[in-house]
Amino acid sequence: ATIPQLLREAVSRFGPRDAMIFAEQGIRMSYYELDRAVDELASGLLALGLTKGDRVGIWSPNRCEWVLTQFATARIGVVLVNINPAYRLNELEYALNKVGCKALVTARAFKSSNYLDMIRQLAPELETCKPGQLRAARVPDLRSVVVMGPDTDPGVYSFDQVCKLGGPAQQLRLPTIDKTLNPDDAINIQFTSGTTGAPKGATLSHYNIVNNARFSTNRINLTESDRLAIPVPLYHCFGMVLGSLGAVSTGAAMVFPGEAFEAGQTLDVLSNERCTAVYGVPTMFVAMLEDLMAKPRDLSSLRTGIMAGAPCPVDVMQRVNSDMNMKEVTICYGMTETSPVSFQSFVTDTTQKRCETVGRVHPHLEAKIVAKTGEIVPVGEQGELCTRGYSVMKGYWDDADKTADSIVDGWMHTGDLAVFDTEGFCSIVGRVKDMIIRGGENIYPREIEEFLFTHPSISEVQVFGIPDKRLGEDVCAWAVAKPGAELTEEDLKAFCKGQIAHYKIPRHIRIVSDLPMTITGKPQKFVMRDKMIEMLK
Ligand code: ATP
Ligand code: MG
Repeated sequence: ATIPQLLREAVSRFGPRDAMIFAEQGIRMSYYELDRAVDELASGLLALGLTKGDRVGIWSPNRCEWVLTQFATARIGVVLVNINPAYRLNELEYALNKVGCKALVTARAFKSSNYLDMIRQLAPELETCKPGQLRAARVPDLRSVVVMGPDTDPGVYSFDQVCKLGGPAQQLRLPTIDKTLNPDDAINIQFTSGTTGAPKGATLSHYNIVNNARFSTNRINLTESDRLAIPVPLYHCFGMVLGSLGAVSTGAAMVFPGEAFEAGQTLDVLSNERCTAVYGVPTMFVAMLEDLMAKPRDLSSLRTGIMAGAPCPVDVMQRVNSDMNMKEVTICYGMTETSPVSFQSFVTDTTQKRCETVGRVHPHLEAKIVAKTGEIVPVGEQGELCTRGYSVMKGYWDDADKTADSIVDGWMHTGDLAVFDTEGFCSIVGRVKDMIIRGGENIYPREIEEFLFTHPSISEVQVFGIPDKRLGEDVCAWAVAKPGAELTEEDLKAFCKGQIAHYKIPRHIRIVSDLPMTITGKPQKFVMRDKMIEMLK
């Protein structure tokens, strides 16, 4: 199916039911209202001169207009380009030009950044041009800037204006456009998190993401009686595929607590809106569990959810089960390039399986684990995880070389080290890139991180390799102390001595106040590595 078909089906089956609630913006819409708002915006976008295959960027935190733009662009076959809300001027310029965006839908501001000011710096021509007729030297393809909300400014459209721009003539075109849409068309470009380097733009089709949304929500038995809280960013596949598309594929209500994740606000909304499911990366659940200890809420409506993106410590999973009342929470593993999910636990799997593994492979997908030689390794041995099937992206946008490197005979090479057990459960061991080879010994940073984590004063720790003339690579660690706790490099070295093999003891340790993170909450080892090399010079 295409995205518009998915929405139409939800509207015809669940029309009067809640479709989306934006708690912070105070907005509520039924599926009927969502459908009408999407059609209005879609015809407004047609009036801007956008047609099938054009690219439109969206640069915004979680707001109602995000979801409307997601479905309105899909409605007319326009490719939505998710732009990270944490981006600044130069990154925005890179993303817009990389894929040749004709229009940009943007929030006015987010936290301390004034987006509109940044756009004006990038395109000073806005001051003098008519809305929709931009010709800017630094972003040559960009014609229209649409600013969320009712207020107008020189050279830009307000979002509300665009919604009224369409009129009856454009509305009439919509049913004709339906017939030109094909499930295999590119409909979305999503940038990867940037954990291991510069983010890459994955090109995804209707078919890729509609089906992934269906299979992932199926495993948590989501239905129209569910109320799904989405505190994860919409710009990322977790929010926009498993979140908004997943809700529409089942008729569930989507509940957005706020523009960006905040533990207390999310818990208040979970309780006030009687949510039955919630998504998050493990660190978000840790923050919610902490907040819950200080201020208990009634979470008796919660049943299930998805935890993904990074490994989940066992005690966190147990407390999510008990303190948050989420007995049926599942773990997912995936990547932007595979739409995203390829492994997921079942709600019936044991807590232990749900912590130690990422579950079993999704329907209609194949998975294998290979050695460096490309040979499949025996069950129980580590290697690189590869997946093949409907969910593999069309490719990296305008980057045939990188695409050919990562997709071979239809197999997506994930770059993750994994191992299967005899029942088909998969465990993620780390990233191929992060493996340290020190004097010929393979060292898995995750193992050392887990050991260091048992130190009572450590709140966060990351282990990575840096080049070493003699050994090829050597081991480094960055650690963050718990609030009020004392922690020194000598302490940590002494802590390791006699407890882990000598060659695994980090040679260089730094105690830092925080770690470099992506907006999706993942530590960026390549940033730490570069800084460490610089510091040791
Ligand atoms: P980049 O590709 O730009 O370096 P990224 O790989 O972090 O960034 P995403 O596509 O957002 O970008 O994340 C996919 C990666 O997240 C996977 O390849 C895997 O390393 C990690 N991951 C996802 N889910 C899990 C999980 N449940 N357990 C462990 N790791 C996970
Ligand atoms: Mg990746």
